[in-house]
Amino acid sequence: MPVGGPQASPPGNRSWSDTIEDVTTVVIGAGHAGLAASRCLTERSIDHVILERGEVANSWRRERWDSLRLLTPNWQSRLPGYRYEGTDPNGYMTMSEVIDFISRYAAVSPAPVRTHTTVTSVRRTDAGYHVATNNGNLRCRTVVVASGACNVPSIPSLSAAVPASLECFTPFNYRNPNRLPEGGVLIVGASATGVQLADEIHRSGRPVTLSVGEHVRLPRSYRGHDVLWWMDASGVWNQRYDAIDDLTRARRLPSPQLVGTPEHATLDLNALSAIGVELVGRLSAVREGRALFSGGLRNQFALADLKMERLLDTFDEWARTNGHDDDIAPPNRFESTRAPLSSRLDPALRNGQIRSIVWATGFRPDYGWLEVPVIDHKGCLRHDGGVVDAPGMYALGLPVLRRRKSSFIHGSEDDARDVIDHLAAFLARVSARSHAQ
Ligand SMILES: Cc1cc2nc3c(=O)[nH]c(=O)nc-3n(C[C@H](O)[C@H](O)[C@H](O)COP(=O)(O)OP(=O)(O)OC[C@H]3O[C@@H](n4cnc5c(N)ncnc54)[C@H](O)[C@@H]3O)c2cc1C
Repeated sequence: MPVGGPQASPPGNRSWSDTIEDVTTVVIGAGHAGLAASRCLTERSIDHVILERGEVANSWRRERWDSLRLLTPNWQSRLPGYRYEGTDPNGYMTMSEVIDFISRYAAVSPAPVRTHTTVTSVRRTDAGYHVATNNGNLRCRTVVVASGACNVPSIPSLSAAVPASLECFTPFNYRNPNRLPEGGVLIVGASATGVQLADEIHRSGRPVTLSVGEHVRLPRSYRGHDVLWWMDASGVWNQRYDAIDDLTRARRLPSPQLVGTPEHATLDLNALSAIGVELVGRLSAVREGRALFSGGLRNQFALADLKMERLLDTFDEWARTNGHDDDIAPPNRFESTRAPLSSRLDPALRNGQIRSIVWATGFRPDYGWLEVPVIDHKGCLRHDGGVVDAPGMYALGLPVLRRRKSSFIHGSEDDARDVIDHLAAFLARVSARSHAQ
């Protein structure tokens, strides 16, 4: 149901960049979330285009380090009308496998992706939105923002005080340990990225100091199953956003300490300290060439251990009440996180022991192109379950958008259907109104 077709040629002396193309829906971003939205739009015969500044699966091509594998198992990789069908359902995809998986989805859908098309602004108009790109302009009734939640590494402002003699890296420009200078490395942040890089960099022979703040501890396997199988089976991952008490906090939770390896290894702080990674507290300041770490390491450990125990209790309760105790291994518990006997509180950064810093302090979205007042003071999109606070604008792929699993690949399936249902109902209302006039 197009609201108008593309213009055949530029009128008069105007160039192509002056023409405006009409389309019902513009999807911004050809990651898995944008492609899932496209599939659902196609199923409902809603004409649309996907605008992508790079290539399909651009984030996985450009913004990840060499050794990264998904931490979600292959069997869990599914999108609307598409799922992993390879020979290793319990394995974890490498980056080239993820790129193939998503690119194949775009091809078989087939998704109307325009690559190398950067959205430079989205503005509200009387009839919907005006979308400007480096390749021309579009008019549309509805927009799906699927531009990703992790566009920019989030680096604390205290980084400005780091002495210039240290080289700084983020997960976006770190590729492998060979790019780091020889010598000690301080990694700030102990969520999925921080623990994975700590392990890899330590194994390269560089002494690693890992600064640990709030974190989510998970074992790779529990009672004979991948811990993410438990998240799925017990319904934890399906919990809806409107049933979560503190949604703001749930949306800010750090990623779990997990790694996908062929050995299905657990990568927690005990595993890291056992190989010689030095654990220190949260980085609270950098002053006069010294890094100041907080002393609350034991509390951080205790809190993460307690939350893991509670989650395992939830799994046990689910197994018991659903009659699985006989076909699943019995419950077990894990050693508490071992606190170091003493931990450094203010090591010097100028004495040459630490030569580089990796900021593994999270990511944030970049909505610099969005000229609609829907961004809150924290830089997040204001939305209710993906229905953005502007008529006809929708979002996908954000943390706990509609469910706890929303920002993961398999989380897009249910979210995209719900959000595109809402979008279709919106278009039907707009169409009914215009017929009534
Ligand atoms: C390090 C890391 C590891 C992860 N591991 C897993 C995992 O193991 N399993 C899992 O399920 N999930 C994982 N995720 C989470 C999640 O799958 C990714 O964040 C995923 O990339 C989000 O998909 P998306 O489609 O929402 O966004 P993206 O994949 O980021 O896609 C957004 C697209 O929008 C494009 N774009 C952005 N701005 C513009 C613009 N102005 N104009 C045009 N195009 C634009 C980008 O180029 C990009 O291609 C991981 C995330 C990170 C950062």
